[in-house]
Amino acid sequence: MAATLSFVRSAACYLVSLSTPRWGSAAAESPRYFLHLPSRPRLLPRRIYSKIADAETKVQAHKGQSEIIFLGTGTSEGIPRVSCLTAESKICEVCSKASVPGDKNNRLNTSILICYVNSLGRYNILVDAGKYESNTTSFISNTKMHIFTFSKHISLCFELNCDGNCRVFFYHSALQWFPTYGILQCSWLRKIDAVIITHSHADAIGGLDDLRDWTNNVQPSVPIYVAQRDFEVMKKTHYYIVDTSGLIPGAAVSKLHFNVIKEEPFVIHDLKVTPLPVWHGKGYRSLGFRFGNICYISDVSDIPEETYMLLKDCDLLILDALRPDRSSSTHFGLPRALDEVRKIQPRRTLFTGMMHLMDHEKINEQLAKLQDSEGLNVQLSYDGLRIPVNL
Ligand SMILES: [Zn+2]
Ligand SMILES: [Zn+2]
Repeated sequence: MAATLSFVRSAACYLVSLSTPRWGSAAAESPRYFLHLPSRPRLLPRRIYSKIADAETKVQAHKGQSEIIFLGTGTSEGIPRVSCLTAESKICEVCSKASVPGDKNNRLNTSILICYVNSLGRYNILVDAGKYESNTTSFISNTKMHIFTFSKHISLCFELNCDGNCRVFFYHSALQWFPTYGILQCSWLRKIDAVIITHSHADAIGGLDDLRDWTNNVQPSVPIYVAQRDFEVMKKTHYYIVDTSGLIPGAAVSKLHFNVIKEEPFVIHDLKVTPLPVWHGKGYRSLGFRFGNICYISDVSDIPEETYMLLKDCDLLILDALRPDRSSSTHFGLPRALDEVRKIQPRRTLFTGMMHLMDHEKINEQLAKLQDSEGLNVQLSYDGLRIPVNL
């Protein structure tokens, strides 16, 4: 039976907990709200400040309020990296920390859930559902015991029932956060009312296959909103979902209803969604999306001039920031992302899509200083972060 990377993480975390009581106690903590309180609150409008205050006191969004849940905030391979956990000579501090449950460096594929509330009801709008597969046979087998050294003081033993087919995907995010924030707390985070696709890379669309659980057991179908160019890709990567005419009768695949969108606003259950066209590598288009005064851009290497018009008066900007030192050919690095924040001037910014070079605590400490020096309210997001919003 194929083991998943979550199992690898579980095994790693369990053993770390056994080995280190200090980390073990941290592991017992449930995910916490984002706690950065600006040292100069007068810079923030009262509405934004009150949202942060709510987070500070861990007050959940009340039933009548919309919210955003960060289902994943990591780059394609996820954090921790398997290769970092198996390296014999070089120890990766961030990936070691990310192996502990609840650590904010633990990141799955970038995705958010917009929980939109209006007078007619509650609607869960998912942005991206990613997945990829990784061949990890170099360190995992069915029978062997492996020993890894995370630090001078911690050695871990793994014995995994895995055939080398380990995956990171939307399923893990939903498995973790839907029950945590849904059934156990307010029993409404169960259905998925729409999925909006930013682009057709595997870490954005690979998990569409996993929507079969919803369409088999929760709801008849899931509407997908996707640009034509990405729909053309799906016709190849997800041909059996796009065209079900060739299926064996009774085959239980995801039942998806595809809506092709253009680079102009569309409406989902009364919520206006404005595409934010950006470049994600030279000549490759990706979409960010604006919901009310919240702008989400997860995969970007450049912003076309015409898109800045759509980013005006932004209360919360969620923006790609891959690594701390420089940009890549397809993603903003932190310096470029900060330059964009200075240009766009959102009231608050949370970065997403971070790789393992982005240490949550250390980077956030540095970013917090920008509040005093420049009045920038910028921090890293983390998986499970939940923010009440007005849409
Ligand atoms: Zn690492
Ligand atoms: Zn991508």
